Amino acid sequence: MESKKVFITGGNRGIGKGIVEGFLSNGNEVLASCRDASKFPLENDRLTVAELDIADAKSIDNFKNIVESFGPEILVNNAGITKDNIFLRMSDDEWLDVIDTNLTGTFRVTKLVAKGMLKQKWGRIINISSISGMMGNPGQANYSASKSGIDGFTRSLAKELGSRNITVNSVAPGFIATDMTDNLANEELTKKIPLGRIGNVEDVVSLVLFLSSEDANYITGQTLVVDGGLFMK
Ligand code: NDP
Repeated sequence: MESKKVFITGGNRGIGKGIVEGFLSNGNEVLASCRDASKFPLENDRLTVAELDIADAKSIDNFKNIVESFGPEILVNNAGITKDNIFLRMSDDEWLDVIDTNLTGTFRVTKLVAKGMLKQKWGRIINISSISGMMGNPGQANYSASKSGIDGFTRSLAKELGSRNITVNSVAPGFIATDMTDNLANEELTKKIPLGRIGNVEDVVSLVLFLSSEDANYITGQTLVVDGGLFMK
């Protein structure tokens, strides 16, 4: 793969950190955002780390110059949160925080990057959604809504940007072992997964790298599931 400029949100841990490592090990130049740059766990000559809170419009504004001078060819909208609660107990704040971060954050960050990609007449946008947005999950009305929103956003954007050779896809992981799922993984759940195991970060990273590559030139507007078979239509 020819070296590209890649911007990844939430690159400091979990799936995002794996994606940063994957692109670096393929020789790419990476801009990774996080909320506290002083604690970023990786160092590399081809890595730039900058602070961004994707739920904060002001922080997005401050980030504009950094993105524009970096000029990303590939964007991975990875940062996301859960605030689970059963629907009747779900507060406005739990709803709004998750929608603001996962969905509005993805919208705002993509806006920062899309103009440059349109000028370059080449781009790859990969949004991390979730099978929760496709199958629904009790206790995750906010999260499921945000993630299926991302899939719809992906399809509309794919139609708007396709003529400029920009592909837009989402990757929908199942259960992947990270901080986010730390207290959810159990034997009962594993039994429901046809491949018989919880996913690891690398399972997601390889799909993101594929979608960013020339091998995926003719794939756009899709939601690709990486879940060991847990959700089948
Ligand atoms: P983690 O909780 O391990 O990491 C989440 C990342 O998002 C962290 O880097 C975190 O930064 C960042 N983040 C959260 N809120 C903000 C914000 N407002 N601004 C900037 N960064 C923020 O989660 P995962 O690695 O598991 O999840 C990564 C993505 O994959 C998410 O979008 C998640 O919804 C999705 N996903 C994960 C699945 C799983 O099973 N793990 C399944 C399906 C989808 P900080 O360290 O500062 O909190």
